[in-house]
Amino acid sequence: MQPANSHHLVAAHARLVRALRMRCPGCGGRGVIRGWFTLAPQCPTCGLHLDRGEPDHFVGGYLVNLAIAETVAAVLWATLFIWQWPDPNWDLLQWLAAALMIALPLAIYPFTRLLFLAADMIFQPKRPGDYGDGDPTFK
Ligand SMILES: [Zn+2]
Repeated sequence: MQPANSHHLVAAHARLVRALRMRCPGCGGRGVIRGWFTLAPQCPTCGLHLDRGEPDHFVGGYLVNLAIAETVAAVLWATLFIWQWPDPNWDLLQWLAAALMIALPLAIYPFTRLLFLAADMIFQPKRPGDYGDGDPTFK
């Protein structure tokens, strides 16, 4: 276990790499994912509250998720469209667009939840809700 007051010293890229590996952005510990769409309430290693004490913290994760997923979907679609030019298969492109827009946000959901948490911790390394009421670093 890490001391609670050392988590703000971690480099920004380390938090993002931890998120991409589905680890706790605070300490790198495992076990922060309960199911594909559910984070554990707290990191089992360092005790970080994964919603930082805010019930609507997931909203930021949704925004990051949609921004990344729809950008990737648009790039993949445009790549196929250009590759097939001048005779694109419109049926395929239509179904592919729909499939990508539905599948990609779901496929990358846990990564984007943790990426948003990591980015949030980079800009605001310490918050009163991070370790609950018992956080000795918040007096
Ligand atoms: Zn942790």
